[in-house]
Amino acid sequence: MISRRDFIKGATVSAVGVATMGVFTACTQTTTTNSEEISWDKEADAVIVGGGGTGVAAALQAVTDGASVLILEKAGVAGGTTNFSGGVMQAAGTDIQKKYTSNKNDTPEKHYKLWLKAGEGVVEEELVKDLAYGAADHIKWLSNLGLKFTSVYGHCHIPYVDKSLHADRIHVYEGGGGEGGGVVMVQAMLNAALKKGAVIEYETEVIKLLMNIDGEVIGVVAKQKGTEINIKANKGVILAAASIDQNKEMAKELSPQQYWDLTSQICLCAATDTGDGIRMAMEIGAAVSGFGGTIDFCGKTGAATDNRVPMFPSFIVNKKGRRFVCEDATYAYHYRAIFQQEKQLDGPTYMIFGKSSLSYDYTRWTEESVAKDIAEGVVITADTIEELGKLIDVEPKNLASTLETWNTETKNKEDNQFDRKTGLVPITGPFYAYKNVSYNLGALGGVKINVETQVLKPNGEVIPRLYAGGLNAGGWIGPYYPGSGTAIIGIVHWGRKAGSNVAKLK
Ligand SMILES: Cc1cc2nc3c(=O)[nH]c(=O)nc-3n(C[C@H](O)[C@H](O)[C@H](O)COP(=O)(O)OP(=O)(O)OC[C@H]3O[C@@H](n4cnc5c(N)ncnc54)[C@H](O)[C@@H]3O)c2cc1C
Repeated sequence: MISRRDFIKGATVSAVGVATMGVFTACTQTTTTNSEEISWDKEADAVIVGGGGTGVAAALQAVTDGASVLILEKAGVAGGTTNFSGGVMQAAGTDIQKKYTSNKNDTPEKHYKLWLKAGEGVVEEELVKDLAYGAADHIKWLSNLGLKFTSVYGHCHIPYVDKSLHADRIHVYEGGGGEGGGVVMVQAMLNAALKKGAVIEYETEVIKLLMNIDGEVIGVVAKQKGTEINIKANKGVILAAASIDQNKEMAKELSPQQYWDLTSQICLCAATDTGDGIRMAMEIGAAVSGFGGTIDFCGKTGAATDNRVPMFPSFIVNKKGRRFVCEDATYAYHYRAIFQQEKQLDGPTYMIFGKSSLSYDYTRWTEESVAKDIAEGVVITADTIEELGKLIDVEPKNLASTLETWNTETKNKEDNQFDRKTGLVPITGPFYAYKNVSYNLGALGGVKINVETQVLKPNGEVIPRLYAGGLNAGGWIGPYYPGSGTAIIGIVHWGRKAGSNVAKLK
């Protein structure tokens, strides 16, 4: 048992944090009373909240730089959502990119400009630039840990981004890319960190940050085996507990699309990612940044997930039977539009295709699978487009006119409405409708950080000794997810940076 006189700023701090942000009135965590001596149960230089991708990257960097490290993980295993990911990550200008793609002269500057444009004016420029310029080094760092990068591809286009900024940048390592490949990367980083002396404690849920009278974060309170324990952070605390992925209440307050995903769609994130790091930081006065976007895609077809798989002949319509988005634009871009249309017109959107689409190379349905989906009610079919419209309660005349325009324009390989490039082939019946369902891979937005990963207050002041990274931090991705591999490179980048900065503290 460690005992030290540290003075806690008290309930005033929590109250200010909650009132300032105007959210989470149901917040239950308050700090202990003023001037109370804390009885510390454990200590480390760097205390890391969350042993997912960001947390283990931070741990490895901090322990390598000479700090003692304690990771506190709420679940019974490390990895969080990162375990479920493909582990693919974006970087520009790497030797691996040169080896596997035709993009021999790609630069971090182009990558930065693409992310910035996709940020639609609401990202922090400095963070985006730092990430784009730092990315290539992480590929080397992970290679040195034993990951073997074996291919590189690109994400689908973003209609308003200059073509010259697009490139194949998504790096795939052996064992990654498929389902659950992220676990390979997590284990590589975790094992290296443990070997160097880092410690991880499982089933340990951090519930509160502790501050002294100078406003410095000095430790955390965690629940372990039903008991509350105090853990002292000699240098700093790193928040690496992801975003509000599985927290309906916070999503309702901060992110309507995430709330839609959690209440009516499918969320694939770790059940333990309930926004705790964000809530605890807000309780002590942290600002938040970058909320609103999500990582949403069509789990049924994988539509527009990457540039190796062109969109098949199909189009997406709203309740009025009209197209409203470029369907082969990167997935979260077109899913934002799907969400907005469903809200605006208070009705579902559909992917429309025909029997003729099934023979196209990149169609995800075959005659057999479409028959199965029809039998299960997942796909609706009709011989004519008007009948299909009636069955799905979409204005039949408009739907027929949308199909007519599609078939006229695609005869010339054109899409004059949305400038789509792939799957431009006329569609003939019988016709099929699939009701779009969003598969959510996480919420975007978190605590506001500066480029050194220090957590900021709404007035821009730093909260001393509090750092955040990965999806627990916001402002480095915009109002929709710009393409596969952005999150994973971000968790490694911000995790390493937070670990290194905390290790440097006295
Ligand atoms: C199926 C799927 C595939 C994906 N594929 C890719 C991909 O290939 N490339 C890409 O870039 N992105 C991908 N993503 C997105 C990406 O995986 C996530 O955005 C990213 O892994 C989040 O990392 P993180 O470190 O911020 O959070 P996590 O890895 O989820 O880590 C957070 C950790 O904090 C712990 N925690 C939470 N609260 C507490 C608490 N109070 N106390 C202690 N611990 C706590 C959690 O248990 C968890 O272990 C995918 C996502 C999914 C769901």
